[in-house]
Amino acid sequence: MNDERPLVAWDVDDVLNCLTRSWFEHNRGKFPGIDYEMLRENPPDRLLGISRGEYLESLDRFRAEKYAELEPAPEVLAFLRRYGERFRHAAVTATPRKFASVSAAWVMKHFGEWIRSFHFVPSARPECVLPAYAQTKGEVLAGFRGKVILIDDTQKNLESARSAGAEAIAFPAPWNAARNRKTEEVWEKLLNGESLQ
Ligand SMILES: [Mg+2]
Repeated sequence: MNDERPLVAWDVDDVLNCLTRSWFEHNRGKFPGIDYEMLRENPPDRLLGISRGEYLESLDRFRAEKYAELEPAPEVLAFLRRYGERFRHAAVTATPRKFASVSAAWVMKHFGEWIRSFHFVPSARPECVLPAYAQTKGEVLAGFRGKVILIDDTQKNLESARSAGAEAIAFPAPWNAARNRKTEEVWEKLLNGESLQ
């Protein structure tokens, strides 16, 4: 028998956790005069005055050392405890191949009560050449049946979900247009079945 509950596809970094905030706080001494809330672009290398390569290397080093210790987002846990049963759940993340296993373990450790599958779109790294398929979140979501709603902080992922026929809700972050949205608004839209730009 098919379960007709909508499937929520959760982005992982900066939705289920605070990766960018944690990375920034860990490195904040290198960026005097800049606050996390000022990161209106992600990747933020241009705003921080470093190269894309330097940024990715620093972020990947942080992932290697600290990812497993990241705290799950308390507001997401609170939502899932109260309303999680109304949906099916999957994690759909863009992460480098090298860190997919760490990310998958982290998701299942903290969210495995609700999230039953982990999917990743490999984030490009020069040293890693992979078979080319499912290269956008939209391509991944197209493989799910029934109603699908992506929750994500990155505009291009939201757009690729919509172009694949899924719904999409922007999760607030300094670098997206939903930055002033309260997470309660995300939950209201999700529960009411409304898409939110
Ligand atoms: Mg994200």
